[in-house]
Amino acid sequence: MAAKELKKSDFQGWLGHDKESAQGNMVWGEFPHPKEFEETDVDIEITHCGICGSDIHTLRSGWGAVPYPVCVGHEIVGRAVKVGSKAEKGIKVGDRVGVGAQNSSCLRADCEECTSGLEQHCTRSVNTYAAPYPQGGMSYGGYADYHRCPSHFVYKIPDSIPSEEAAPMLCGGVTVYSPLKQNGCGPGKKVGIVGVGGLGHFGLLFAKALGADKVVGISRKSDKRADVLQMGADEYIATDDDENWAKKHSRSLDLIICTVSSPKMPLNKYLQLLRVKGTFVQVGAPEDKLPEMSAFAFIGKGISMTGSMIGSPAEVEEMLQLAADKKIKPWINKYSMKDANKAIVDIEAGKARYRISLVNEKHL
Ligand code: ZN
Ligand code: ZN
Repeated sequence: MAAKELKKSDFQGWLGHDKESAQGNMVWGEFPHPKEFEETDVDIEITHCGICGSDIHTLRSGWGAVPYPVCVGHEIVGRAVKVGSKAEKGIKVGDRVGVGAQNSSCLRADCEECTSGLEQHCTRSVNTYAAPYPQGGMSYGGYADYHRCPSHFVYKIPDSIPSEEAAPMLCGGVTVYSPLKQNGCGPGKKVGIVGVGGLGHFGLLFAKALGADKVVGISRKSDKRADVLQMGADEYIATDDDENWAKKHSRSLDLIICTVSSPKMPLNKYLQLLRVKGTFVQVGAPEDKLPEMSAFAFIGKGISMTGSMIGSPAEVEEMLQLAADKKIKPWINKYSMKDANKAIVDIEAGKARYRISLVNEKHL
């Protein structure tokens, strides 16, 4: 495959021009300020892009002001069509590659985060979309034809993982894989995953793959029970079904990953589920504050409360390898890139089982 020189007009995608775009009103158009190509970059011809909750929070300015027009999508898979002479990882033109929620960080030798495998927490981190690069240009996401990304944040996709399954792992997958790994998920641990949506379903699959003694899915409605058990969970708690659920299952888990992004979550009850010295990790990001909690909720059992944001490049690669080795099968609905507006409406209506991948047919 020959390298491809992209023109500015090649960078087109679904643009959100205002808050209303989140209701399925994105408009296809050219990116106003794509980044200039640097020798450390890779240009990607997009074949697939997963839909993440962040996309919708961003389109509607839910987490704060947004530099419209934006093109969202940070679970990108495609083919490398141009690779800079200083690109990392031996990426070649024609390789199947992916990009997650982060596009850039400073990578300086004096950066505490970048030198310790915590690039996602670098103060100079650039998100995959709706963010300015320090050297000029804006980042635009993957509901699009092409994506330009510094190679440090571009990942080779293992051959055995289909593109539509790899895409949602790049943000959704690593967002739960990282805290599971960092907090010792594995043999000897009983792990709960709160919220069985896109993130939560990955939580169940990865907790099982990492060898936890027991994996418990926790969500509101009982209609997800069969799916959760089929994903490999040992147990399912439907909190709408039994008002005594917290008491009944109290002190039963070592680690809880909470993917819920509604501020109305029953946080104090979730904490009841932890054993002494257990850990609660919040990964969902409500637009509002978390519920109030009593100090006794964590003093009483000496529990830890922590948070986690996406994962590092090294963790993304580790996760992809685990998914390939253990043949992890995410549950995906495919939509055409042409139907991106319908897809974001459907995902907001809770219709995804459990993650949506957009397919850009013209680049297949
Ligand atoms: Zn995301
Ligand atoms: Zn840095």
